[in-house]
Amino acid sequence: MSEDTFAAARNHMVDSQLVPRGILDPRVLAAMRQVPRHRFIPPSLWDQAYNDYPLPIGEEQTISQPYIVALMTEILELKGPERVLEIGTGSGYQAAILAELAAQVFSIDRMAPLSAQAQKVLDSLGYKNIHLKVGDGTLGWPEEGPFDAILVTAGSPQVPRPLTEQLALDGRLVIPVGDRFSQTLTLVRKTKEGLKYEYHGGCRFVRLIGQYGWEAGGLWD
Ligand code: SAH
Repeated sequence: MSEDTFAAARNHMVDSQLVPRGILDPRVLAAMRQVPRHRFIPPSLWDQAYNDYPLPIGEEQTISQPYIVALMTEILELKGPERVLEIGTGSGYQAAILAELAAQVFSIDRMAPLSAQAQKVLDSLGYKNIHLKVGDGTLGWPEEGPFDAILVTAGSPQVPRPLTEQLALDGRLVIPVGDRFSQTLTLVRKTKEGLKYEYHGGCRFVRLIGQYGWEAGGLWD
């Protein structure tokens, strides 16, 4: 398939999966038309890159369904100058979308092989405003905070306290909160009066494993 074919598939994805479901932010839609999602997945899956579902990226992890990426990004209401923290680099695709819409993106994954592969792809696409790190993202990245927006792309039993601490005043944090099987997309806003919570529907993510997330090991691994 040529780059033109992929670009056409991307436009079709936006017009058939995102717009009809209510994604309205023109900057988010433009980023989703722009970033070559296929480059972030194994070549054997490239013909499915723009389909309406998550795909495996190795290490038992997944790249999210395009609609979920667009929805989480839209809820962050990025305007351009923000510093953004992502927990769960995975393939690097969501980080690239964020980098199209904000000034600097910091992204953490606990799995070194995924981070290394994401770095390779992001370098090859020429992104200079994405900074990756390997570690427990539930601890945040205090040296680089505070952040105007924080996005957690793994499901957590709770909102990790270090993340709300590293959120700037008027900042927005989006995180799937729930049990291992289903979560609620939760928006936390930091206001002068304290943290405000809003809920944006159900979702299903792989687990956030770390000090303020799920414990590693046990029956489910
Ligand atoms: N945003 C990614 C998909 C994330 S999949 C993309 O666009 O492709 C969830 C990722 O969260 C996995 O890569 C997993 O390794 C990572 N993860 C789980 N717990 C974590 C933690 N405590 N800190 C950092 N990354 C974590």
